[in-house]
Amino acid sequence: MKIARTRDELESAVSSLRADGNAGRTIGLVPTMGALHDGHLSLVRASREQCPATIVSIFVNPTQFAVGEDLSSYPRPIGRDLEMLEAAGVDLVFLPDEATMYPPGCSTMVDPPAVARALEGAVRPAHFRGVATVVLKLLLLTGADAAIFGQKDYQQSLVVRHMVRDLNVPVQIVVSPIVRDDDGLALSSRNRYLDADQREIALSLNRALRGAASAIELGETDGDAVMAGMMQALLESGVDQVNYAVVADPETLELIEKVHPPVVLLVAARVGTTRLIDNLVIQARSASE
Ligand code: AMP
Repeated sequence: MKIARTRDELESAVSSLRADGNAGRTIGLVPTMGALHDGHLSLVRASREQCPATIVSIFVNPTQFAVGEDLSSYPRPIGRDLEMLEAAGVDLVFLPDEATMYPPGCSTMVDPPAVARALEGAVRPAHFRGVATVVLKLLLLTGADAAIFGQKDYQQSLVVRHMVRDLNVPVQIVVSPIVRDDDGLALSSRNRYLDADQREIALSLNRALRGAASAIELGETDGDAVMAGMMQALLESGVDQVNYAVVADPETLELIEKVHPPVVLLVAARVGTTRLIDNLVIQARSASE
């Protein structure tokens, strides 16, 4: 497994991945902020199934954090991350520093698509501007043919899909399912901030989603009632703040009044000082149902 830290190192490593013997090799990119877990590794597996060569980037992107968020304390267990990526069969790891990604004088940022405005965008106003910018830069720097994102960050995957569509970026965006712990908690680098009691409370995010899904399955069509049910489940379990608990259109994220799947349920809540997000897509019922 090669490691590239600078643009020059990346360029030469990418050209050897595409070199003569490997002509036409498609390259899959998995962008991450490190502190890797099996959710990230599932994206690596998805890339390796589809692409003969896989690049993973690890960069804790400062432009997507607001002042007061956890940029400086974000976990950076780089040695362990590299071991995991080597064992997972990754070809190349891109490990840029801040000056490589944002050289002095760099002042252009991507104005993200409309789908960035609600939900996470409302709670974290500059977040998707930073995400869209860093993702576009990583796509251009690596020249990847495909990029794999997790459904865990549902709105982020939509922002990226809409951005590459709107800006004609020649890359295929793949969205890979959420990986959960045995107890149902969606894996996240931030779960390590939770103590045992908080982790118990955090399970309510998935529970609220599953409760809403069963209500819809049993015939509930009132969007407000579904949202109120999720909100109540979260508050009763003791989360410190609910940012949102919504049923939305899976493509536009507009809130839904009358629920007819496909829909997406999205929740975000704070447990102690840790913000957690989760979601569940309810597919369209088949014609025979
Ligand atoms: P992050 O390192 O948090 O920026 O995440 C990097 C990528 O991993 C993003 O595309 C996330 O959506 C994805 N990811 C994070 N957690 C999970 C999970 N539990 N299951 C699937 N993908 C995930």
